[in-house]
Amino acid sequence: MSKLNFRICRRWLTASVLGLALSVPDAQAADSADLSYVETIHTLADRDNATALRQLREYKDKLGPDAAYAVRAEVLKTLISLLYDGGKTKEAEQVNAELLALARAHQDMDMIGFAQIGEAFKLQEQGKQAEAIVRLNEIKQSLQGSQNPLVLMRLNSAFGSMYHSVGNFEKALEHYLEALRLADQLPRRKAQAKLYRLEAVASLYISMHNAEKALATANEGLELAPAVHSPKTISSLSMVQGIALTELGRNAAALQSYQRVLQIAREAGMPGTEATALSNISDHYLHMHNFVEAERYARLSLAKYKEVGETFGAATAKANVGFALAGQGKLAQGIEFIDESKKYFKDINSKSDIEALLGEIASMYENAHMYKEALLNVREQQKLNDELFRSDRAKAVAALQEQFNAEQRQKQIELLARENQLKDADLENRRLQQIISMLAAVVTVMVGVFIFFLYRRVRKTNERLREVNLQLEFHAVRDPLTGLYNRRSFVDMMKNRIALVDGERRADSQENPDCLMLMDIDHFKHINDSYGHAVGDAVLMEVAHRLRKSVRDSDMVLRWGGEEFMIYSPRSNPAQLTHLVERVLRAIGGEAVEVGDAHVPVTLTAGFITLPFSGVPEAVCDWEKALQIADMALYLGKVNGRNRAYGVARLLTPYEDALPVLERDLSAAIKAGMVELSEVHGPARADLRPENGMPHK
Ligand code: GH3
Ligand code: MG
Ligand code: MG
Repeated sequence: MSKLNFRICRRWLTASVLGLALSVPDAQAADSADLSYVETIHTLADRDNATALRQLREYKDKLGPDAAYAVRAEVLKTLISLLYDGGKTKEAEQVNAELLALARAHQDMDMIGFAQIGEAFKLQEQGKQAEAIVRLNEIKQSLQGSQNPLVLMRLNSAFGSMYHSVGNFEKALEHYLEALRLADQLPRRKAQAKLYRLEAVASLYISMHNAEKALATANEGLELAPAVHSPKTISSLSMVQGIALTELGRNAAALQSYQRVLQIAREAGMPGTEATALSNISDHYLHMHNFVEAERYARLSLAKYKEVGETFGAATAKANVGFALAGQGKLAQGIEFIDESKKYFKDINSKSDIEALLGEIASMYENAHMYKEALLNVREQQKLNDELFRSDRAKAVAALQEQFNAEQRQKQIELLARENQLKDADLENRRLQQIISMLAAVVTVMVGVFIFFLYRRVRKTNERLREVNLQLEFHAVRDPLTGLYNRRSFVDMMKNRIALVDGERRADSQENPDCLMLMDIDHFKHINDSYGHAVGDAVLMEVAHRLRKSVRDSDMVLRWGGEEFMIYSPRSNPAQLTHLVERVLRAIGGEAVEVGDAHVPVTLTAGFITLPFSGVPEAVCDWEKALQIADMALYLGKVNGRNRAYGVARLLTPYEDALPVLERDLSAAIKAGMVELSEVHGPARADLRPENGMPHK
């Protein structure tokens, strides 16, 4: 029941919105007396629409063909408003067409837009909301740049109303609030305009099932209303207030609101509003199960609707009469009314109303315990509901789709472009990343290869360094030509020997002294001269080889310098010493050295001594002194014919007396009988000249 009731209110409110928008004049420069007269009529309409309508019609008829355009347009605009408020929709639409033609003739763009908005409302009245929204968007385009607050306010109101009727409440609210803002910019009838907007917002909140906000908005309007002296405005706001109170379950307060609307409508002569108030009151009593009162008010509203020719309202009132009768047990009678109502809604193909009605009928049968009939109606309602849901959805979607297309296409294109830009940037980014990865890989490999080569080179260099170091080490102690130890290595060794004091010296050092044997190749200069330096070198190498072979492993053979050699034989047996010397002389002089084709006979002369020497402590006669004595013995060998060796075997007098002489002059010491000398001869050689040892060629 409340749904039916609400539907009535919606239609009624739509008419009010129209009335408001059209009721604001837009005079520029014209007959100001005429314009102010029209405004006076309009203000009168706020409290007495019927009288105002009559006066305006009369005025319109009196206007001659040469009346100013602004006046004629103003009259038509106001007339449209009053006709809608008087419930004369058809006539209002005709006058709107008249206004459009007039505006076109005068190329008044704002007025053309104004009248076109009226046409959009006509589409809405025909249930073509989607088309109406498309139409409004076109009008919006044609009004672009317009600064006329009246037209723009009307446009926003129309949008609000359309979106409201397709259930897009958020958009509706947005447009209504914009209309409210524009109302503030109007030159005249500002307060009226604001009140109508507040009423539109309040009724929107009803649709949004936000009764609290609806009530608050309606109350806000009602507080402003007395300043306007407009029974029309007060009644419409009170109507919304009543509906909000019903929604909030405050039925007594709601009834008061409806009663106030009824009273105002009767006083001001607004039969349409009166009918709606009566209908709402009957609905209230139905709700309270006061079926007698419900029937009374329903019949009153039916009469009023018939009076103003509102067939839709009349059909609703009939349904209410039927329900009220059924509630009183007069079911058959009630069903007659209901069927009539149902037929009407079917004729105008208002499925949502039929659907609501079927629901009410079902609960009516249920209350009468006629469950079979209740079930039938519920099923029918269900079927319709499914259809309705689909068609409503389709309509709403179509409308929103159109809206979306108009408003969002550009945005969509921009978004696509932006998305493409992002994709491009992403691709470029990935490409760069790939290049970076590739470069990183290449650099890594190159660095790896470089490090590998560097490492190899370092390793090679290290190897070479080690080799060179080994060679250096070798050459530091070895003679490069013969591979024998060099003089330096012997000197180093002997230095360590000096570091040892006598006490620490081997206990057997007297019995097994070390032997030092110094050698010099005989007439080597001559070998060089005769065979060449290279052969000389080869001879040196062979001599070294033979020396090495003729001594113990523990003995040390050195190249003392040039063609001089030395054997250091530690822990030697003095008795065996001459055997060693003999072996050495034989090894060298026994066989000529073969170098290529050359056949080189070689001999050497040696001097030898022991260390310690003849029991003299090394602190007194060290290795250097001993070596000096051996050198003198060698010299003696040279003097005495070469290819032989002299050994200074022992001292025959105390060393304090002997050594000073011996160190200076071996021969003198020998003559003085201070030393015992041993002589070893080299092998007798036929190829050697006895007197000077010169080899034959
Ligand atoms: P003597 O019997 O008196 O010792 O006569 P000698 O000719 O051997 O005389 P001396 O010992 O004074 O001469 C040594 C020569 O040996 C001088 C030098 O040219 C030669 N000589 C020194 N070292 C080398 C070498 O490494 N290679 C060659 N080929 N000759 C060398
Ligand atoms: Mg020499
Ligand atoms: Mg020599």
